[in-house]
Amino acid sequence: MPRFVIQQHAATSMHFDFRLEVVGTFKSWAVPKGPSTDPREKRLAMAVEDHSLSWGDFEGVIAEGEYGAGPVIVWDRGQYRNLRDEPMEEALERGHLSFWLEGEKLRGGWSLRRTGDRRWLLVKRRDEAADARRNPVSTQRESVVSGRTIEQVRDA
Ligand code: MN
Repeated sequence: MPRFVIQQHAATSMHFDFRLEVVGTFKSWAVPKGPSTDPREKRLAMAVEDHSLSWGDFEGVIAEGEYGAGPVIVWDRGQYRNLRDEPMEEALERGHLSFWLEGEKLRGGWSLRRTGDRRWLLVKRRDEAADARRNPVSTQRESVVSGRTIEQVRDA
């Protein structure tokens, strides 16, 4: 199964980089508020450049002066499954993805729908993993790799 990773990144502004493995690369979106497990919450996801699969393991501090300077943690990761009956590449072209995540923090069905040039919306689908009371972005802040928060990585 292909992989997904969500890296919390404190660059010029805090955001969560949501990445889905599609034919050998990580398709990527920057989600300022991070994912919500509440299906009523639509989270802005700005399409950004593809990243190499090896980048998905990166946790640490991007040096001052480099693009995206600031700390990064692996906030969640795991595998995903395409829920649409067309390949992910075609769903990307069409601007409507639907997939099932098996992460350590996030599970269940999610959709990503393009609403503008680089603008997409990330929304939890209504299923048994949906939970309006959970707020993992604020209650499960630690890296799934190291157990450190983004502040601890920054201050290390
Ligand atoms: Mn980023």
